[in-house]
Amino acid sequence: MSSSSVVRVQRDGELASVIIDNPPVNTITAAVRAGLREALHQLQASKDLRGVLLLCEGSTFCSGADIGEFSGPPKEQEYRQLFNGYEALGVPVVAAMHGTVMGGGLEIALACHYRVAAAGTRFGMPEVTLGIIPGAGGTQRLPRLIGAEQALELIVTARPVDAARGRELGFIDEIITAELRSGAIDYLRSLVETGRGPRRTGEMTVAVASATAEVFERARAQARKLYPNRNAAQVAVDVVQAATTLPFQQGLEYETKRVNECKDSVESKGAVHVFFAERETRRIPGLADSVTARPIERAGIIGAGTMGGGIAICFANAGIPVVLLDANEQGLTRGLANVEATYQSMVDRGRLSAEDKAGRMALIGTSLSYDALSDADVIIEAVFESMDLKRRIFTELDRVAKSGAVLATNTSTLDIEQIAAVTRRPRDVIGMHFFSPANVMPLLEVVRTSQTSDETIRTVMDLARPLRKTPVLARVCYGFIGNRMMEGYAREAERMVLEGATPRQIDTALEAWGMAMGILAVFDMAGIDVGVNVHKANAAQFPPDPTYYQADFALHDAGRLGRKNGQGYYRYEPGNRSRIDDPEAIRIIAERAEQLRVPQRRHTTQEIVERCLYPLLNEGLRILGEGVALRASDIDVVWTAGYGFPRYRGGPMFYAETLGLEVLLAGMRKYQDTFGPMHWQPAPLLVELVQRKLPLGDYESLRTGAGLREGAR
Ligand code: NAD
Repeated sequence: MSSSSVVRVQRDGELASVIIDNPPVNTITAAVRAGLREALHQLQASKDLRGVLLLCEGSTFCSGADIGEFSGPPKEQEYRQLFNGYEALGVPVVAAMHGTVMGGGLEIALACHYRVAAAGTRFGMPEVTLGIIPGAGGTQRLPRLIGAEQALELIVTARPVDAARGRELGFIDEIITAELRSGAIDYLRSLVETGRGPRRTGEMTVAVASATAEVFERARAQARKLYPNRNAAQVAVDVVQAATTLPFQQGLEYETKRVNECKDSVESKGAVHVFFAERETRRIPGLADSVTARPIERAGIIGAGTMGGGIAICFANAGIPVVLLDANEQGLTRGLANVEATYQSMVDRGRLSAEDKAGRMALIGTSLSYDALSDADVIIEAVFESMDLKRRIFTELDRVAKSGAVLATNTSTLDIEQIAAVTRRPRDVIGMHFFSPANVMPLLEVVRTSQTSDETIRTVMDLARPLRKTPVLARVCYGFIGNRMMEGYAREAERMVLEGATPRQIDTALEAWGMAMGILAVFDMAGIDVGVNVHKANAAQFPPDPTYYQADFALHDAGRLGRKNGQGYYRYEPGNRSRIDDPEAIRIIAERAEQLRVPQRRHTTQEIVERCLYPLLNEGLRILGEGVALRASDIDVVWTAGYGFPRYRGGPMFYAETLGLEVLLAGMRKYQDTFGPMHWQPAPLLVELVQRKLPLGDYESLRTGAGLREGAR
């Protein structure tokens, strides 16, 4: 039989295997669909066929649809005809799955007559997190197979399940413990031999008991709770409900209509934008393809504290041996104990086997001597935030590190140029700014100085992959991209509590808008002392505003450090994670406001959101105009991956455009009229874009065309 380049049909007597081979993850691209169509025609024409197996080469069964096609013409009809074609075959069709089977990958399997999977295979319907619904029959077939209630659970929560759960739910018929293909062929053969023919999902009906009014009501309530400000999950409930009333083909058409509406929504466009933005960050304009990364086989970390320990875990998880160094034995023991405890909690939660924990711990060595770092390919400094200390450490590193080693600092605020200047190799010095907890947070700001070499940049951008981080390249400035944008955002939150808003009022407004956590609760979590120290150390950089971050200072002066001592903007009780409103905190802040003569004011939710967000967006545009970030979408990645900005709003720069740049400019001027010009200067780029009526995207292509690299290096 003939075959396309990504789909082939293999005959094994009366049985045929349709094999998809589209690395790396067998995405259902246009070529795969064309191959599947051709294969279908061959199967339809074959006279002596008794059964069909559908499976994939490589690391996984089809991982999903091609998200790149979202913005093009709708493809649902094509999917529908193709999947219906397989479902209509007159012989049993078995999907044999392994790896991670998501969205469209699971939908093609649902159109097969039987489904088997290797143990450990994972399945999910993540569409609603991208602002859409399953659009290739999933909303109509899944409830027919497992009932509406369970289908809604999968589709609305978007949480993946494993093969064992899939079998319990009923969409997996058998778990294959032998080699998948031979096990699946045996399964198919037994179907044929026992005369069990096609079992078409589309011909089933949804179990009545699973589809009561209460079930749909509960699902709608769950969707509201899980996805505030969003609509896709509500649409998913509507469409699953339609599966209980509409004939199958009409249900499919209804699904198509609704998915196409979803694709037009801001929530979908924002989420898809972030999805692609995350893939774009590694592309560095001006960095020649000929610049290659240096191999990283060993790592060293200085400072076994909160960050050092978390970073060590990232390396060990990547299989890269790492040496942790601290000032004294005590520091090392404490650091290693924290690492051990992190791994143990993963074992306790069933996320890691005891054996793997031992293997990873064995990759983490400790030392008090810099000589232990002499064979490291990358060394990351994560000691206290002190310029003197960091400069002393880099002098030492310059002495011991091997030639070509990357020398990185995890500083959040210090000038990396000054740190690099103490070495004889500033080309190898770079910032690697991890976020806390470093082993969990996906963002890595990679900060280049004016001297960092292209090779060093490439090495660190590539190293992010095994460390499972999303790297974003930035230039040196106070706070880099993320923390610099945070400055004005949090400044206004703190100012508003001085003006008489309660911490709860501020945080609730920000959370209702979509931030993962209100900023004052974030400060309680990070430690009020941390912010105060940064503001003391950098006082010269900030505008001469006597009220600047004074809510933090007042709480700190009263000994309130946040969660760590149970009192900050809120009060906390041991063993209870919830924030409790605390009149004492409010009193302390009010007293400081009175001393500072801060005029009191009533704040609407709209004012809270605008006063926090406008400075954030404005600073993003400033950063973009200055070339601190390479592109607007990188800023979106920093804030969605590192600061809890809602992905469905596409990140701050995408949101600025959704809002309207002219609305943002008018907003900045409105608050300037009320509060004066010190903090409310529109970014030059914002003014320019509005004047020229230029959307950000157009501006970026103009800028890239004009030779960003020359301008920015
Ligand atoms: P930490 O206080 O938890 O840890 C610092 C560690 O450095 C301690 O174990 C200490 O013993 C060790 N140390 C001090 N002097 C040393 C020396 N001379 N030689 C070797 N080790 C020494 O601090 P942290 O929160 O892990 O922060 C470390 C760095 O990371 C700072 O630059 C900080 O700004 C930055 N950072 C912190 C966070 C965060 O949220 N904690 C986030 C991003 C970046």
